[in-house]
Amino acid sequence: MFRATVFTLMPDMFPGPLGVSLSGDALARGLWAMETRSIREHGIGRHRTVDDTPAGGGPGMVIRADVLAASLDAGLPPDDPRPRLLMSPRGQPLRQPRVRELAAGPGVVIVCGRFEGIDQRVIDGRGLEEVSIGDYVLSGGELGAMVLLDACVRLIPGVMGKLESGSDESFENNLLEYPQYTRPREWEGRAIPDVLLSGDHAKVARWRREAAERITRARRPDLLAE
Ligand code: SAH
Repeated sequence: MFRATVFTLMPDMFPGPLGVSLSGDALARGLWAMETRSIREHGIGRHRTVDDTPAGGGPGMVIRADVLAASLDAGLPPDDPRPRLLMSPRGQPLRQPRVRELAAGPGVVIVCGRFEGIDQRVIDGRGLEEVSIGDYVLSGGELGAMVLLDACVRLIPGVMGKLESGSDESFENNLLEYPQYTRPREWEGRAIPDVLLSGDHAKVARWRREAAERITRARRPDLLAE
């Protein structure tokens, strides 16, 4: 089973949106599991301090290597086979092939940063793989972790109604998805393209393929170039 362990300073944020709808139903049905580990439990002193000022100066605070390492070491067996991810704007941008790979594996360990980030030495010392959800800066890794988990969980067998619903989508075959329509047949003077109502499956498939290529060329030529 796909198991997620999330190290965070904000455990109350979980499962959050992952607890409802598709991922929430799958959680309740035991198709995947998640647990949070509060980094603060390994904080120092009476105040459970987890951060300190950046070496070399500058604004903000940095999560201490010793505190995060203590939390990781206490929370994970040394032979845990799951990839250890660190949410980070400096990471490799998350893309669908990596999501598929993660979803097919035993699960993930995710470390959520806060403040200015975490001490580099624990990234190196515990072999954390930095993953970004896009070129913008969040205030913490938790929403990123939820994005990553949502993307993985929907691909776990049994989670989505039909297996096909995962194979025809945006980013498969380096294409964006074709336009979708449903009833009514005409709405505010706009009709569903005739071919989609023709019942000719080969024609429909060709139309969708061409539409996907046109949209991808216009919006994301970088995908086609791959
Ligand atoms: N000072 C850092 C940003 C820290 S933001 C920098 O300039 O790179 C605080 C935390 O939010 C980070 O440690 C990370 O865990 C999370 N975060 C911010 N943006 C993110 C993104 N695009 N993808 C994944 N995690 C992100």
